[in-house]
Amino acid sequence: MTVTRRQFVQIAAGGIGATSLAALGFSPARALADTRAFKLTHATETRNTCPYCSVGCGVILYALGDRAKNAHTEIIHVEGDADHPVNRGTLCPKGAGLLDFIRSPDRLQFPEYRAPGSSEWKRVSWDWAVDRIARLVKDDRDKNLLHKNAAGVTVNRWLTSGFLAASASSNETGYLTVKILRALGMTAIDNQARV
Ligand code: SF4
Repeated sequence: MTVTRRQFVQIAAGGIGATSLAALGFSPARALADTRAFKLTHATETRNTCPYCSVGCGVILYALGDRAKNAHTEIIHVEGDADHPVNRGTLCPKGAGLLDFIRSPDRLQFPEYRAPGSSEWKRVSWDWAVDRIARLVKDDRDKNLLHKNAAGVTVNRWLTSGFLAASASSNETGYLTVKILRALGMTAIDNQARV
């Protein structure tokens, strides 16, 4: 590139001016760094498990709000948990898009019930849903628990119901799930995540 004498003087003057400003503490980069706040500084961290697949990657949910009663909490950022042994902070594109899932208007947030023969789902309370599940579990077990096999050996098997735990279940949740269900005699048990 050819620089004219006039351009050379302009460039030199600009350089001297910028250097002088930086020496006086007016460096733009430094000024910006001083005023820019880290967006997660005041966020609350909650550790969780990605709900999508059986890999069971650990995630950290960052939420605004101090968890005070009646305070509205909003999740503003999700990232991989660097301390989690499964993913060491990494997430696949699906897990990295968890914020969209959390904010989706289609996300199911409450239990719903569709009565036999009906095409309509209606929202129900958690109490109602738990009572209903407990009733069906008890009725089915009372009716179908197999005490002895064909050889007369005591087996106490309950073969007519199964249980599938979700991928967001932790190791501890999986352990308790199996303990309780085995105590009931259930044999068809699976947990989507291998965490
Ligand atoms: S981040 Fe990806 S690989 Fe990990 S659990 Fe979620 S969907 Fe599976």
